[in-house]
Amino acid sequence: MSNQSDLVIVYHRQPFEEVVVDGETLYQENKSPNGIVPTLKSFFQTVDHGSWIAWKHVENDGDEVPDRHVTMNDRHGEYDVLRIGLTEDQVKSFYHVTSKASLWPVLHSFAPHFDAEAADWDTFREVNRRFAEAACEEASDDALIWVHDYNLWLTPTYIREIKPDAKIAFFHHTPFPSADLFSLLPWRDEIVDSLLACDIVGFHIPRYAENFVQVARTLRGAEVTERVPVEAGLSPLGAALSEPEVTTRLEYRGRTVRLDAWPIGTNPSLIRKVLSEPEADERLAQIEGELGEQQLIVSVGRVDYTKGTTETLLAYERLLERRPDLHGKIKLMVTSVAAATGMTVYEETQEEIEQLAGRIHGRFATLAWGPLMLFTTPVPFEELLSYYRAADFCWITPLRDGLNLVAKEYVAARGVDDPGVLVLSEFTGCSVEMPDAVTANPYSHESLDAAIDRSLAMSPSERADRMARMCAVVDRYDIEHWAEHILGQFDAVRGTTAATPAVATAAAG
Ligand code: UDP
Repeated sequence: MSNQSDLVIVYHRQPFEEVVVDGETLYQENKSPNGIVPTLKSFFQTVDHGSWIAWKHVENDGDEVPDRHVTMNDRHGEYDVLRIGLTEDQVKSFYHVTSKASLWPVLHSFAPHFDAEAADWDTFREVNRRFAEAACEEASDDALIWVHDYNLWLTPTYIREIKPDAKIAFFHHTPFPSADLFSLLPWRDEIVDSLLACDIVGFHIPRYAENFVQVARTLRGAEVTERVPVEAGLSPLGAALSEPEVTTRLEYRGRTVRLDAWPIGTNPSLIRKVLSEPEADERLAQIEGELGEQQLIVSVGRVDYTKGTTETLLAYERLLERRPDLHGKIKLMVTSVAAATGMTVYEETQEEIEQLAGRIHGRFATLAWGPLMLFTTPVPFEELLSYYRAADFCWITPLRDGLNLVAKEYVAARGVDDPGVLVLSEFTGCSVEMPDAVTANPYSHESLDAAIDRSLAMSPSERADRMARMCAVVDRYDIEHWAEHILGQFDAVRGTTAATPAVATAAAG
């Protein structure tokens, strides 16, 4: 079984749900059809055999994981899952503390939240090394090993040590910060060298790739050997995260490192299919019945200081202050999914969100009207889609967000027949794809309030025009398009087709 896989995906979460029935452990395909995991698994259909590396809790360090190797057979075909055993302390140290308290704030340009002393870099290294060893155990000699996200930043270095000729790809699901911010990390050289040990490093948007180039040039002396223009659709003039050109190749210590900037898409056909089912009609009728004449605003995310939920709530409070005429006529639904217990870095934010929601309710609610609803547990994806469909407005106000899929899901779910308005922070990756959203700077009350006022006053024809253009972008640059793009990049890395320069394109009008 080992040493057979042509594609090894290294992603810290397991790609299935584990359930115990009558004392027997069963491995089942994830119930939610949404998210990155099904997309990544679909890549296994393109190779003879694939493997996935993830971690699994064990009691004591060194304990063997029961069912270390699981062979899955689901709609993506057959693939292996190799599980690394990590103790509760190791997970806490590697993920909850070092990744979330030290790396996450820097990635999201939140310097004051950065806590270098909290980090346990030895454990971070050790866990990353174990992921690399497991990946190499699974990989055939000419396999492509695809490592995901910053919590595995050092894995490429260890893979290169074990398999010097391996083909290594890396994808960042987060932003990549400017060199000024990145340089706060005391482990910066080690991280950059690991990324430069890859054959290809992927980002959502050109700005993040360029930030990495700046870091690689200034800290490690990497040289830019290819740069291409970014198509205007992915680089609206004057937008906070625009880049006119993007680097596609670097040279470092005699090796070529390709860079790729391509935003992940959502799955509009799945969204439309779910919404065309009778259960969705029933859900929508119920939501609309409960709303009556009120207009719904949705704002969906996780508890995280980067997500701007506090900014959304404060903007709503200001709106209710300046527009008493809207009392009783609008309702804000905020989903802010609480982090897992033990994630102390998010406790303060969660408390703040809950207090603010309580304050707004206390100030403005009447017997007949509640101004807002706050969900802190996840809303199942199918239900969420019905709320999107019912919502006249969607407010996405992160202070920083690698991409933000919710914005794309709202556009796909609401559609063109009865268009809504998207208010979108210009510090989300997807804002460069969707200049037809009403973009705002969430750091500025004036900017956010003006965007909200503009969205409320927008004429039906302007709503329709903007929504049609956003739908075209979301439809064209869907998840399938992203997967095809990535496969093209992999072919180039494997040398199976002529390398084509990765000109970033999008159809935003
Ligand atoms: N989501 C969900 N239920 C919720 C809140 C979010 O299913 O209650 C899903 C949402 O549909 C989206 C994902 O979680 O697909 C969040 O992705 P996004 O890129 O917006 O943010 P992330 O959490 O990855 O930073």
